Amino acid sequence: MRPKTQVIHAGIFGDEFTGSVSVPIYQTSTYKQEAVGKTKGYDYSRSANPTRRALEVLIGELEHGKAGFAFGSGMAAISSVLMLLNSGDHIVITDDVYGGTFRVIDKVFKRLGITATFTDTSKPEAIESAITNHTKALYLETPTNPLLKVTDIQKASAIAHRHGLLLIVDNTFATPYWQHPIDLGADIVLHSATKYIGGHSDVVSGLAVVASEELAERLYFIQNSVGAVPGPQDVWLLLRGIKTLGLRMEQIEKNANQIAQFLEDHPKVKKVYYPGLVSHPGHVLAAKQASGFGGMISFDVGDEQTVNQILSKSRYFTLAESLGAVESLISVPAKMTHASIPKPRRDALGITDGLIRLSVGIEDVQDLLDDLAQALD
Ligand SMILES: *Cc1c(COP(=O)(O)O)cnc(C)c1O
Repeated sequence: MRPKTQVIHAGIFGDEFTGSVSVPIYQTSTYKQEAVGKTKGYDYSRSANPTRRALEVLIGELEHGKAGFAFGSGMAAISSVLMLLNSGDHIVITDDVYGGTFRVIDKVFKRLGITATFTDTSKPEAIESAITNHTKALYLETPTNPLLKVTDIQKASAIAHRHGLLLIVDNTFATPYWQHPIDLGADIVLHSATKYIGGHSDVVSGLAVVASEELAERLYFIQNSVGAVPGPQDVWLLLRGIKTLGLRMEQIEKNANQIAQFLEDHPKVKKVYYPGLVSHPGHVLAAKQASGFGGMISFDVGDEQTVNQILSKSRYFTLAESLGAVESLISVPAKMTHASIPKPRRDALGITDGLIRLSVGIEDVQDLLDDLAQALD
């Protein structure tokens, strides 16, 4: 099945009980048992729910994995996966990961005895030198948020597996439409489904896909024990959103390429971060390991005053947290998504007060270009 067909036909199609083409919303917490323990495969909705199962099978197939798991948010998915580790374990992780990922590791998991080294995983030698005797996992985000740094998943996988580490990849930015980390050696793939997977700014959810039966058993145990599962309404919105993932990503990609080129040529823009630009240090690698560059663009206009001018003048870029939706969004990472990272660390990473992040939507690109041109004037 080709990707655009797969987003429509993979997983569980429709409803086996009624023939309904759309998977129904099974708004139920419990299921009648014919006799004690004699069920139709469902006994309690924290453990399994047919609407959620349809999504879990679908994302498992889209990511080329063995099994998928749905959670109440991206952070719930990430936290549940980190619970595969034990006190005393250490992880090596990309230095400019999503702010919430940094926070949960630095403020919660550290307290529970799981330590981390944040490093520039786009450099294989930096990964190698961060690994200790206690390291159990390598955690990547690629491309990263907000600087769009690209890590070679295949090389990272070779290093991880040589040291017996789990390779975990947050694939939120690339989506399973463009990038398949499991094919490149990842053991676990994570998503904030709130973003491109849902795609319409109307649901918060998370997904995880594992590459082996053994990991599927372990993660299912955590999902069921901890219970950070989404409700059937949210799951249904994701099932609906995924059907247009291919169409949306194709349009977003076209728009983003033109906007990145426009920004790169603009005299007021100091620096543009977009893997689709030939000038981007990760361009060749991004083109090799993914079939598209995605819709996230960051650019530096030098100072806060120019940032504020652009924010107040832009009409079609809505000032908001989040990303990956049909409507274009604009944000200031240092003040918003990455505010929980201490300023000295932000500055060291390049997340300056003059940095703007765009999540390009599916609008007519000419309107978006005109809007940015007048906002930058
Ligand atoms: C948003 C995001 C998360 C967190 O997901 P939530 O759904 O907000 O909990 C994790 N990783 C990346 C890359 C994100 O963009």
